[in-house]
Order: sequence, then C-alpha cells, then structure tokens
Amino acid sequence: MDNTIIEQKKALRKEIRSKRAALPQDERELASHKIVSNLIENPIYKNAATIMAYASMPEEIQLNELFDHAFVNNKVIAVPLIVGRGTMRPVFLPSMDSLVVGDFGILTVRQDCRTFVDFEDIDCIIVPGAAFDRQGNRLGLGGGYYDRFLMRVPNAQRVALAFDFELFDSIPATSRDIKMDIIITENETLTFARE
Ligand code: ADP
Ligand code: MG
Repeated sequence: MDNTIIEQKKALRKEIRSKRAALPQDERELASHKIVSNLIENPIYKNAATIMAYASMPEEIQLNELFDHAFVNNKVIAVPLIVGRGTMRPVFLPSMDSLVVGDFGILTVRQDCRTFVDFEDIDCIIVPGAAFDRQGNRLGLGGGYYDRFLMRVPNAQRVALAFDFELFDSIPATSRDIKMDIIITENETLTFARE
C-alpha cells in the first residue's frame, strides 16, 4: 500500500479519536439518540431479521438504545468475537448480561453461552469506523478487521453510524477498504448503490 495513504489514514484517525474523546457526555448521548432513532426508522434495519452490531466503547456512538430496540422487536443479534489475527466471527447475543470484556477490551459474549451465527444469516451489519465520506468510503481504527470480515458477508447490508463530524467529502481509501451501503449521522442519511 502507498505510504502516503497509510500516513494520511493515521493522521485522520488520530484527529477523529481526539475529537470523539473531547465530546461532552451529554452531547454524545444526544447525538447517539438521534443516530439510533434514524437507524430504527430505516427500512434496512426494519427489514433485517438478524443484525450484527458491536457493544460500543465509551468514546463511540452509544448503541444501548439500538440493542434495547432490537431485543424488544425480536431481532436476532450477533456481536463480533475475535478468533485469530485479524479475524472475527459473529456470535449470538442472548442478552446484554452475557457480555464480558474480550480481546482489545472489546465486549463480547462470555464463553459458556457462546454460539456462532452463520455468516450468511446476517442481514445487516453495523460497521464501526472513525471517518466516512460521501462516496461510501470508511476509515476504521487501523486493524482492517471489518475489511476482512465484510468480504465474507457480501449479502449483508453495511450500515455505518457516524457523528456528523466523522463525515467528510473525501477520505483516503484503497481498493481493500470495503464501502458502506448506507451512512447515518444525526442529520443525514446517505445511501449508495453497489458498484
Ligand atoms: P482500517 O480498515 O481498520 O482503517 P486499514 O484499511 O488501514 O485499517 O487496514 C489495516 C491493514 O489490514 C492494512 O495493512 C490492510 O492492507 C490490511 N487489510 C485490509 N483488508 C484486508 C484483506 N481483505 N486481507 C488482508 N489484509 C487486509
Ligand atoms: Mg480499511
């Protein structure tokens, strides 16, 4: 990969992560509420029987209202489990009580109640990221985990939830960076046709 792109990605990740960390908690909660409300109203979510989402870290968009809604509406919920270097598998989330801290401090399902979900059963994946652009590009946190994972789930809808300040006109991306189908912020919903 081009070294300049690597450096540009690093710089943008750093900028966004410090902006996120500096966001006051009440603003984060309000923005998260708006973003999750926009998602819940969207047909991509409404029509999904099985969704994959991640248990958000303190600095990220808070997804607790999404999990609550999905449980009440009988969606099958999967969360990622890191199973090897750069590799994730979806595991069934029976309840929020079954979450424990796993690798890299990421919450996952505790071992005694872990069952895997088939990749092809996932209808919609909430994809985390640091920055997105108006072409559907995504900048992750630098591990390339979702770029690898999404290649294995080509039929699932790829949904990015982002704070308004994480959406740019253009961000650095390579052919390995998997594009989003939809990006939802507090104030905008962008949809993209697959190429
Ligand atoms: P992120 O997507 O988390 O922002 P990058 O796009 O910078 O991170 O990717 C991180 C690393 O993972 C890079 O070295 C990239 O080449 C590698 N990578 C991305 N996708 C794949 C893939 N499909 N197979 C193997 N390596 C990949
Ligand atoms: Mg990438």
